[in-house]
Amino acid sequence: MGHIIFWAIIRTAVLIPALWLLYGFIEYKYWWWFVILSIYGIIIHPLAIQYRMFFEANKELIENTLCSSCKYFDKTAVLCMKYDIHPTIEKIPCDGIDWEPKENVS
Ligand code: SF4
Repeated sequence: MGHIIFWAIIRTAVLIPALWLLYGFIEYKYWWWFVILSIYGIIIHPLAIQYRMFFEANKELIENTLCSSCKYFDKTAVLCMKYDIHPTIEKIPCDGIDWEPKENVS
């Protein structure tokens, strides 16, 4: 998940100066539409696609493993916070020994 945020920040850092440079070449009445479409096309849409791909790639792990029901599992990063290791379908870092149920907050 971190790489998705990282590349969104990089795209933002490139887009802002690019928009600044293009400001003089575009009529003002079109400027804000250009800015809005640029932000959507270069930052938001790729971010949504990358997140969807990330979720699909890890869907089985997030929903159907021992880790997915453990209180140490961070599903946004697909990370075991106790061991600071990314679990996989094939390998659970603690082999189930340190599993603890999630506390229900309701
Ligand atoms: S403690 Fe064990 S079961 Fe819980 S998230 Fe970490 S590896 Fe998975």
